[in-house]
Amino acid sequence: MMPRPGLKITTILGIPIYVDTSWVFVFALITYTIGEQFAQMHPQWTDTQHWTLGILTSLLFFSSVIFHELAHSVVAQHYKIRVISITLFLFGGLARIERDPSKAHQEFNIAIAGPLASGFLAGGFFAITLLFPYSQMTGALAKWLWQTNAALAVFNLLPGFPLDGGRIFRAVVWGATKNFAKATRIAGASGKLIAYVMILGGAWLVFHGFIQQGLWTAFIGWFLLNAAQESVAQVAIRETLAGLSAADVMSHEVPTVDGHITLEEYGAEVLRTGRRFHLVLTDDRLVGLMNVHMLNSVPREEWAHNSVQAAMIPREKILWASPEEPLLRLLERLLAADVNQMPVVSGTENGTHVVGMVTRDSILRVVQTGAELGPLTPSR
Ligand SMILES: [Zn+2]
Repeated sequence: MMPRPGLKITTILGIPIYVDTSWVFVFALITYTIGEQFAQMHPQWTDTQHWTLGILTSLLFFSSVIFHELAHSVVAQHYKIRVISITLFLFGGLARIERDPSKAHQEFNIAIAGPLASGFLAGGFFAITLLFPYSQMTGALAKWLWQTNAALAVFNLLPGFPLDGGRIFRAVVWGATKNFAKATRIAGASGKLIAYVMILGGAWLVFHGFIQQGLWTAFIGWFLLNAAQESVAQVAIRETLAGLSAADVMSHEVPTVDGHITLEEYGAEVLRTGRRFHLVLTDDRLVGLMNVHMLNSVPREEWAHNSVQAAMIPREKILWASPEEPLLRLLERLLAADVNQMPVVSGTENGTHVVGMVTRDSILRVVQTGAELGPLTPSR
């Protein structure tokens, strides 16, 4: 659910700025493309000039994207929404904020700040092109940057979620209908529509000989389609799980096994009962957690010679949940740690004890059922 942030490059206004590994590829590609373009347009310049300008333009483009994301961030901070990070990835940037804005006009203002910032930069670089002719390096650089920033502003204004324009669109529908979930679905559907148009348009371009432009258009469309589907699914999950906690879905039955039994015997127990995980007790003390995944990580022929204790997740490495933990956060922790179940412990005056188990499946069942029933009440 949470992408790894990547490499941290700097901190601006208290916001850490990361670059995704894919950005390295984009940086090289853009530098190369610009360098080639300048070499064609300005054969009188030296190779060093072409490549210096290529790198410089790339760096300024990169700064332009950060500027765009900072614009979103400053407005979010104005509404007391904490900005967790800014990450630059394959198709631009992403400012991660701690929560969705609580009012439609706040979302509108946060979303529109980005394209306005890009438009402002486009205007600034355009003004520079008026002062320096295209035959000079400054003029050539400014022309590339004003056009690219203008394209960035326009592209981001397309009214499909999760683009800025989609957020603006959602804010308008949200404000008009007072129904956040409905607004998200409409903006998501519009995002998918735009993505399909781009994919088909890209294919049309390819068949008419514009292979490079066509492939790029289709590729960006495909990327948008995934992003739109994912955003809508995430909002749906968040809504279904809102207000639920670990205690709501945990199973109170917590199967146990003795740590001394062999893996062979454990395998037989799993097959007999169909239970896929157990707390491991040795002399009545909790020492670890055992499951089918750990069993399968040991080669079959070694099962007879190894005990459960040797293969289990030791007690100090187990991730625990509390009964009050919000289900959404718990699901995020399960996914982040790539584990399938977590014991739920409750603290009393007699010390802590295990009261249940939460599995990834049990949470996903809630999500699935929520999707079948649909929202019972509009949440906002
Ligand atoms: Zn934006």
